[in-house]
Amino acid sequence: MTESETHWTRGSGGNQGTYVQQQAPRPTEAALSIRGLKVVFHTYAGDVQALDGVDLEVQRGEILGLVGESGCGKSVTALAVAGLLPINAEVISGEVLLDGKNLLKMKKEAVRLSRLNDIALVFQDPMTYLNPVLTIGLQITEALTSDLKVFAEDLIAARMTKLEAMMKRSLTEEQELESLRRAKQSHNLSNKEGKRLASLRALDYLRLVRLSEPEKVLKMYPFELSGGMRQRAMIAMALVRRPRVLLADEITTALDVTVQAQILELLKDLRDKIDAAIVLITHDLAVVSEVCDRVAVMYAGSVVEVAGLVEFFKNPSHPYSKGLMAAILRPDLSSETLESIKGSVPDLINPPSGCRFHPRCPYAYQKCPESKPPMTEVSPGHAVTCFLYGG
Ligand code: SF4
Repeated sequence: MTESETHWTRGSGGNQGTYVQQQAPRPTEAALSIRGLKVVFHTYAGDVQALDGVDLEVQRGEILGLVGESGCGKSVTALAVAGLLPINAEVISGEVLLDGKNLLKMKKEAVRLSRLNDIALVFQDPMTYLNPVLTIGLQITEALTSDLKVFAEDLIAARMTKLEAMMKRSLTEEQELESLRRAKQSHNLSNKEGKRLASLRALDYLRLVRLSEPEKVLKMYPFELSGGMRQRAMIAMALVRRPRVLLADEITTALDVTVQAQILELLKDLRDKIDAAIVLITHDLAVVSEVCDRVAVMYAGSVVEVAGLVEFFKNPSHPYSKGLMAAILRPDLSSETLESIKGSVPDLINPPSGCRFHPRCPYAYQKCPESKPPMTEVSPGHAVTCFLYGG
């Protein structure tokens, strides 16, 4: 079985476990659904209506690009899903469904576990999130062994699968396999043995994110790694708990173009190998065009357009999306034809009434400030919130 023919899916431990390599078709069920999510930030200046009924769905095995300008609510959506909203934020209404279960209605401990195990966030600046005084290996193994009992069975299973897959096994490997079989039968794994297995798994994760010389990286501190290597290490740590949803927030923004291309290639590779939905949050449509399967455009706290990648770039339909596309530098157009969207991002303490884009929209008419346009399907899989569509 070649690397490209394999998928990394959840191990035998059901909800808990590590990735194991196996042949599997790419699944298409929705891993994450967000419905009518409204979030308000209480500030001294007033209530900031940050999310105004976000609707979004992400399938397993796909990369969804979530785009829009700064302050449109992309990151707040990710933080709301991951349960990491700041203390002054309040979820007013809506649903966040993870594999059909509404996280906003679950008991506190169940939500905590679900978010811890099933949702992973990777941010723009890994240096802020990596512990500077711990080696990369220790940080990954800590994530693996933080709940050793839960992971023990899968650590054993993963190591056994690997050893059993080796055609020619040495005497030491045979002995290890035998001791693992015994540990599995007795459900007993010492801390020392668990940490040794976790360390071997950490190496697997570093290989999964294509870090060269993973044995060396395991012993390195974050400051010894380049920006791209740090981002790969962060992604490896995020994958340790085999999330069903990986939220990648501007992960290529701080990287130079070559490294950015490598990280995007890695995301494409992971999409084919892990059994997860990936949401790539970015303000850069060029990044979206490189890796995403679908695109969702956000403006002033709501999703205004959703479409497949090719359809979106061929036929952007919402006036805001059209404005974004007209503002991109394209080799087939001279720079004189570049346009910008007039006006500026609205104040979300006093957002515009009706369609929040109406003060900037060249097509706005009487109805637009009066009510909020519904999401209308303009073609299969392509939907827009604008009164210009749907009669
Ligand atoms: Fe423009 Fe009206 Fe459509 Fe809003 S609903 S995008 S203001 S035309």
